[in-house]
Amino acid sequence: MRISLSIIVPVFNEQESISLFLDAARPAVAQALDLIGPDARAEFLFVDDGSTDRTGDILTILARLSPDIRLVTLSRNFGKEAALAAGIDRARGDAVVPIDVDLQDPPEVIISMVRHWLAGAKVVNARRADRSSDDWFKRWSAHGFYRLINRLSDHPIPENVGDFRLLDRQAVDVIKQLGEQARFTKGLFSWIGFRVATIDYERAPREAGISKWRVGKLWGLAIDGITASTTMPLRIWSYIGGGIAVMAFAYAAFLVLHTLLTGVDTPGYASIMIAVLMLGGLNLMSLGIIGEYLGRVAQEVRDRPLYVVAEESEPATRSVNKPH
Ligand code: UDP
Ligand code: MG
Repeated sequence: MRISLSIIVPVFNEQESISLFLDAARPAVAQALDLIGPDARAEFLFVDDGSTDRTGDILTILARLSPDIRLVTLSRNFGKEAALAAGIDRARGDAVVPIDVDLQDPPEVIISMVRHWLAGAKVVNARRADRSSDDWFKRWSAHGFYRLINRLSDHPIPENVGDFRLLDRQAVDVIKQLGEQARFTKGLFSWIGFRVATIDYERAPREAGISKWRVGKLWGLAIDGITASTTMPLRIWSYIGGGIAVMAFAYAAFLVLHTLLTGVDTPGYASIMIAVLMLGGLNLMSLGIIGEYLGRVAQEVRDRPLYVVAEESEPATRSVNKPH
């Protein structure tokens, strides 16, 4: 059975959102399928990212009842990026659309995504036209982050494009080969290239439940994003170090000459302290940056799987009739 569209929905403690999501997404997906053809089919692939509320129970029942719903349960909370990877690895569709369950990514956008896909785009990005649903801090920090990473990285990451996008099977197969541990999905999506179309949409406020992101987690994601996409921060330190070394040599030469010509200098406490503190600070900072990369290398070398699957729903068509 051929599946045209896989809708991947990572969920973490979202018991209030699931039925709201399906009520809104089903009609939109049905309309998208109409565009593809009379016997086009879709699957909703939910990835339960270690939820501790009733999310898992709700989804288990749904997956048993509806032939178009599949469920992958991870063994604990691995984070949205890993949950997405689990979904992408298992998606069977000719096109794959990761979407948030809280309806912040409007399902109607899928219809225009599919239109662009049928017109030949391999990746269809959805760009948030405004982020007024986010608070000022999130908007400000996100903007700063994109400016920074796009200055550093050599394959730009489009601003205000989230994980909500359509990926053709060809693009999905490339993504699946990228076995990076520290996953920065947006960076991977931009790295793969292909013909890209972009749609603008308005990001709605969360429909139910609360956002699972904390400032600390976003900061972690930002660091992951930079270190996974670019080695520029390492190089900057070679330049700064080189510049300081040249100045230090010049100053040393000056001091030697000065001492030879005019005798022993007055005690240079201030200049020594400044030099020691400044170099100490720079050393620690550059060590920290090397450490960030080294930590990632260590993580990659361990080569653990990105996620651990605890359970996977059987295709509902079979399990409905299965005697228990
Ligand atoms: N999510 C997840 N694992 C996590 C955190 C979030 O699978 O550790 C899911 C969550 O259930 C939702 C999506 O990722 O479907 C986006 O999460 P959220 O709305 O909390 O993030 P925000 O919209 O605030 O960026
Ligand atoms: Mg959200």
